[in-house]
Amino acid sequence: MQEKLNVVPFVSVDHMMKLVLATGVERFLIELAAYIEEDFRRWECFDKTPRVASHSAEGVIELMPTSDGETYGFKYVNGHPKNTRSGRQTVTAFGVLADVGNGYPMLLTEMTILTALRTAAMSAVAAKYLAPKGARTMAMIGNGAQSEFQAIAFKAILGVDKLRLYDIDPSATARCQENLAGMGFEIVACSTSQEAVEGAEIVTTVTADKQNATILTDNMVGPGIHINAVGGDCPGKTELHRDILLRSDIFVEYPPQTRIEGEIQQLDPDHPVIGLWQVIAGKAPGRSGERQITLFDSVGFAIEDFSALRYVRDRLKDTGLYEELDLLADPDEPRDLFGMILRAAKSAPVALKAGAL
Ligand code: NAD
Repeated sequence: MQEKLNVVPFVSVDHMMKLVLATGVERFLIELAAYIEEDFRRWECFDKTPRVASHSAEGVIELMPTSDGETYGFKYVNGHPKNTRSGRQTVTAFGVLADVGNGYPMLLTEMTILTALRTAAMSAVAAKYLAPKGARTMAMIGNGAQSEFQAIAFKAILGVDKLRLYDIDPSATARCQENLAGMGFEIVACSTSQEAVEGAEIVTTVTADKQNATILTDNMVGPGIHINAVGGDCPGKTELHRDILLRSDIFVEYPPQTRIEGEIQQLDPDHPVIGLWQVIAGKAPGRSGERQITLFDSVGFAIEDFSALRYVRDRLKDTGLYEELDLLADPDEPRDLFGMILRAAKSAPVALKAGAL
């Protein structure tokens, strides 16, 4: 891959879908989860910074960079909860992987589908260490774009095969139920979030609303539950009642970012939280008691996207599921950039306006 200096492998949405189908969704999630775990184990090698967010009344646009010293990655991602009303996605993304040694991009890829996969893989990795052993029942509140990916990741990685679904929009629940039909789930569509959490060992909240919502109240959370809180990922955008946080052991990706964006923005800035990487690296315990309430306060961190980019780059090698993008100017003599334009004018004069050069 990428023998010519001027071209960069580009994975379109169409190629990403083919890559996922050729791999198998479950295998894709399992392998991606392994890449995430590998990168979380070497957490200390990475450059880390809270993502750079540009907020507006309707949503947010964010840049998420990181590097392990050899490879650099970033993702452009948006979050616009009202987008679905105009037929658009709430979350879209694309990303780049680059060589730190020469700064050249090595991969440009769609990341809307990839973000849903990586978020689900990340949630399932967290639950592997934090959920009650042998948990098979998950409540999922918010049945939008991310939801099926979450369900499939929890099945593939933890063996969760009973789902209790709730969404304020029943058509979202119906679509999620239909999409997951025949995949080995027993699914109950619920009419309230209270009903959805009944009997669930894992509760996933993955709603989209630009406000401090209360998807779960304190009385809905019994002892021993693992909460996978995915939807609260911006300042002023949370899903859980504060009292739940006070009863939970809270695990986060990168604390400086989660303090700004996660459920814990509701708590004092020095409220103790545990870095998930420490649990994965064996430096801190995960679930340590049957009655413990564990909370993965997920916001999405750059290292997970880096893992996803790395995984896609490695998977592409054998599949050919990419295009070569003419992205980088490559004159014969590196300093003769302008001469390259002059030579192009000679070889393709009709394409230029008269007198342009
Ligand atoms: P989406 O708009 O496709 O789906 C959201 C669903 O939530 C909709 O079906 C909506 O009806 C439902 N909903 C809204 N309010 C609700 C409520 N009070 N009770 C029950 N259901 C409710 O959005 P999506 O792409 O699935 O993303 C969901 C959320 O996850 C967003 O907030 C997004 O920003 C977030 N997200 C987080 C990460 C992460 O890494 N933590 C990654 C991707 C997306």
